[in-house]
Amino acid sequence: MSDLTVITHPDCAKYHPAEGHPERPERLAAAMRGIEQLDSVNMIEARPVESIDLARVHTPDYLQMIETIARKVVDTGQIQILDRDTHAAPGTLPAANLAAGAACQAVDHATGKQPNTAFAVVRPPGHHAESNKAMGFCYFNNIGVAAAYAKTKPSIQRVVICDFDVHHGNGSEEMFSDHPDVLFISSHQHPLYPGTGHGELPSADNIVNFSLPPGSGSNQFRDAWQHHLLPTIDQFKPDLILVSAGFDAHWRDPLAQLDLKDEDYYWIGHQLKKLSRTHCKGELVAALEGGYDLKALTDCTLAFAEGISSS
Ligand SMILES: [Zn+2]
Repeated sequence: MSDLTVITHPDCAKYHPAEGHPERPERLAAAMRGIEQLDSVNMIEARPVESIDLARVHTPDYLQMIETIARKVVDTGQIQILDRDTHAAPGTLPAANLAAGAACQAVDHATGKQPNTAFAVVRPPGHHAESNKAMGFCYFNNIGVAAAYAKTKPSIQRVVICDFDVHHGNGSEEMFSDHPDVLFISSHQHPLYPGTGHGELPSADNIVNFSLPPGSGSNQFRDAWQHHLLPTIDQFKPDLILVSAGFDAHWRDPLAQLDLKDEDYYWIGHQLKKLSRTHCKGELVAALEGGYDLKALTDCTLAFAEGISSS
């Protein structure tokens, strides 16, 4: 059996936030074109998330509000506005349920009898969603839901969320700030949306932000991880590594200017996999976040998936 399990669902492509919106249905097929180039993958169909799993990181009021919005979308067939750039169209909330469910399934597959690597290739993304707020194209914080779910397993006490999406994962930081058993590690461009995560201002000791200026490129990105972020994970000795895998720091991406190349995503995947072998029996969970140039999304998904499957 392959060392890599991919969890996805065609319904993750069955919603369209708005004309010209960068978080568009074609992103799913683009990412899957990367996965299809791998020699061997264990493919699993995503299931909707359980409400108990959402409730560990999202507030009851927020979940109630999302349910009301979902009903309104079904009743009216109209798009509902949750935030400036975050809309609920027909199909959005079923896809959000599948995306968060896939992240939990990824935990089950990674931490099962055979330690494994599991990648939820889904949309919508999740890392901007806070405990009580949808924002930045995100509704449920998929990797946050997965991290809290993982900690219900007796063998998993300490987890790290590694986030190399070009945008700061403000939702993940907000959810886990001051949770000493969860380390949140992020590299991101600054200044850029959402404007949080500037390196000098972590909200708690378990939060490590490394901001990079526009135009940084491969060397500064790799230096940040090699000399600061990877050693911090190593010292933390996690029981599971979770990854917010966004590919919008690539040079082709229209939303940012960090200028990474395909091979940087192989590199970071390989480094994280090495750490998971040292501390977590090779168990690693990833969930797709951003990435808005379709060719870069295909190539980076392939490169990263090869990195996390490498020996
Ligand atoms: Zn992003």
